[in-house]
Amino acid sequence: LDAPLFADLAGDARVSFEFFPPKSEKMEAQLWDAIQTLAPLGPRFVSVTYGAGGSTRERTHATVARIASETAIPAAAHLTCVEASKDEVDEIARAYWEAGVRHIVALRGDPPTAGARFEPHPQGYRNAADLVGGLRKVAPLEISVAAYPECHPDSASSQADIDNLKAKIDAGATRAISQFFFSPEAFFRFRDKTAAAGITAEIVPGILPVSNVAQTRKFAAMCGAAIPSWMDRLFEGLDDHPAARQLVAATIAAEMCRKLYAGGVRNFHFYTLNRAELAYAICHLLGLRAGSNAALEQAA
Ligand code: FAD
Repeated sequence: LDAPLFADLAGDARVSFEFFPPKSEKMEAQLWDAIQTLAPLGPRFVSVTYGAGGSTRERTHATVARIASETAIPAAAHLTCVEASKDEVDEIARAYWEAGVRHIVALRGDPPTAGARFEPHPQGYRNAADLVGGLRKVAPLEISVAAYPECHPDSASSQADIDNLKAKIDAGATRAISQFFFSPEAFFRFRDKTAAAGITAEIVPGILPVSNVAQTRKFAAMCGAAIPSWMDRLFEGLDDHPAARQLVAATIAAEMCRKLYAGGVRNFHFYTLNRAELAYAICHLLGLRAGSNAALEQAA
């Protein structure tokens, strides 16, 4: 792709950020530091993950409720249906609605035992599409769902995965956020296939700035994302150079965002891992400026 230079980007990209609920006071301070650093970029929303099998139910709620009450950023709560009855899930969603939270990222979740096959709870939602339908009955929530440019490992085929995404959108989701990936071409192919399947909802690429390849590889193996071999080469010999690793991480992710931008993408979702600097640098290269008109419009 003939991608424009960073210097030529119009500053019309729009961004959102994902965080995880902190486990300790120190981690909580780090999270708030990250939120305060990123807030002036005017994110469309920020989201907070839900620990495997619902293990962070209270912490996710507390974090989302605090963002909703102490900042002007729309806050979204991730919610999974694995290991929970419909009644339990609905009650959690109702509590979010009552706390003023209007956006849920609705997910199936994975079984708590790594590698185990997903089995729906006997009284639970069968999958994310079923969950979306249930949430729509609880309240008029905005609902985002997950998408997999390189196919979910449980999926029978890439077409079955796209059909499943369409079922989630048809059930009432308004947006899909993608699993991380490192090939813009894979994202474009996926986008073309979703369009051919009649999906008109926005598909927002999930951007993971990687500074630890070994850790990312472990995670990628579970979620069906491919780590290209050039990534290893780019980090070779940097184990004892954390600052250089960060620079390389930002460069790789910014370069991918630039290619996505050239392919028409304007909305980006960043997996921040509760650290602001990499996402901030990439947003800056994409033309976003703290307090700029674009940022203020987004915040509005
Ligand atoms: P679904 O959309 O239900 O589907 C998963 C797979 O199963 C698809 O391949 C689909 O084709 C297949 N499938 C679904 N229904 C059927 C059916 N009836 N018959 C046959 N096949 C079917 N996990 C967490 O625990 N907490 C989080 O906060 C969290 N946040 C995430 C955020 C994003 C943006 C993404 C991309 C993932 C997130 N995950 C999270 C991970 C997610 O829970 C897992 O990827 C999980 O394995 C699938 O969830 P899903 O919502 O995509 O499931």
